[in-house]
Amino acid sequence: MIRKLLRKVFSRAAPSAPVEPALIPVARHGIRREQLSPAARKVCAVLQEGGHKAFVVGGAVRDLLIGHPPKDYDVATSATPEEVRAAFRRSRIIGRRFKIVHVMSGAETIEVSTFRASQDAESAETDEHGRVLHDNVFGSQAEDATRRDFTVNALYYDPGTETIVDYHHGVADIQQKTLRMIGDPRTRYREDPVRMLRAVRLGAKLGLSIDPAARHPIRDMAVLLENVPAARLFDEMLKLLCSGHAVKCLKQLREEGLHHGLLPLLDVILEQPMGERFVWLSLENTDERVRQDKSVSPGFLFATLLWHEVLSAWDKKKAAGEHAQPALFEAMDEVLDAQAGKLAITRRIAGDIKDIWALQPRFDKRSGKTPYRVIEQPRFRAGWDFLRLRAQAGEIPMELADWWDRFAHAGHDERDELIRQAPAEAAAAAKKRRRKRRKPAAGTAAPADAA
Ligand code: ATP
Ligand code: MG
Repeated sequence: MIRKLLRKVFSRAAPSAPVEPALIPVARHGIRREQLSPAARKVCAVLQEGGHKAFVVGGAVRDLLIGHPPKDYDVATSATPEEVRAAFRRSRIIGRRFKIVHVMSGAETIEVSTFRASQDAESAETDEHGRVLHDNVFGSQAEDATRRDFTVNALYYDPGTETIVDYHHGVADIQQKTLRMIGDPRTRYREDPVRMLRAVRLGAKLGLSIDPAARHPIRDMAVLLENVPAARLFDEMLKLLCSGHAVKCLKQLREEGLHHGLLPLLDVILEQPMGERFVWLSLENTDERVRQDKSVSPGFLFATLLWHEVLSAWDKKKAAGEHAQPALFEAMDEVLDAQAGKLAITRRIAGDIKDIWALQPRFDKRSGKTPYRVIEQPRFRAGWDFLRLRAQAGEIPMELADWWDRFAHAGHDERDELIRQAPAEAAAAAKKRRRKRRKPAAGTAAPADAA
């Protein structure tokens, strides 16, 4: 009761949205319509010809202003989903509560949503912590702008006039490199705690600093993330890890106190001394791949993040006398189950993760026909990339990863020869490692410190 009253007072005190937006001409923002994807331009043009308002909105406008190529395009319109559907032959309505329309054009898919009313915790249905459960009422363009999270995400670009419609001073905030929340940050985090993760991710990805008013409440409010459905958290974590700035994002999450206790996965990543080097290496590797426009497999990524958990569970079982093979499979299930409550790793991705883990002990067997069978496995390539990361992190000898590289690329006769030589090579590598361990070279950091 008191909390509700306080909230009412505070939300009244919060600055209300300017009613008249600024109309920013191309001379000031510099985005030409040719910079947009053809599909985004076409969707806006068709809707406008049909008498509707239609703008490119959100991440794409923000990214173009910053000078990043947009990942995808969202369009916001005054047309209803049914009107949008009727205007495009290749389109379909998705979502049940709040319908949006996917319009396909060439190889692109444009997500078209009807202007939505902002639903504050007063008027909307919420859970007991104030999280808004449905966000599904149509509204005006001004309302649509106010319900968005950050000022830089509430910019509407009209390809027809090349004008940006800016309700919340988003263009100025981008110029000042600030990520500012629309409305009162505490209220907005309560409505949707995922906005805390978005703040960190977008700040890191775009090189914007989070406005202190939006940054300060995060530490206190982090606990609210516990009430967010696991599937939503998984999507957001995946976006964060695949942003090309995973290392920066995770360091920032740790600084904001967002990793502790609420996401078991993050506890695992950031608090395992043994696996820390491995995890940072894998994240650096992922960031590099994203920057080079290479694909990143979520299965591979989560396999690396959780590997040391598996190793320690597996070791315990082996020490208790279980056979290695069944013990590994039990350990894998335990680790994945422990994540499941918070993070809904989809079944397909869980399958990929297990395939990669299950291959690891098989790389140790370099005799008889086993190596031939291993390279025929459909996930051999991912498993071998994983093996190489383990070697780079110092968990296993590099000689093993190199051997498999040679084996995979060799002809039949060479392969037999490699199998014959394997025991001698392994012994030589082990001897070298023992000698190194006895005399650590001056100036080299221990693996756990090197991250
Ligand atoms: P990305 O570059 O990751 O796509 P984005 O800002 O475009 O970043 P999306 O998830 O694609 O993120 O969302 C599109 C737009 O929808 C955002 O720009 C923002 O205006 C709005 N939005 C997304 N999530 C939220 C949220 N949790 N609360 C309020 N508005 C949101
Ligand atoms: Mg987007």
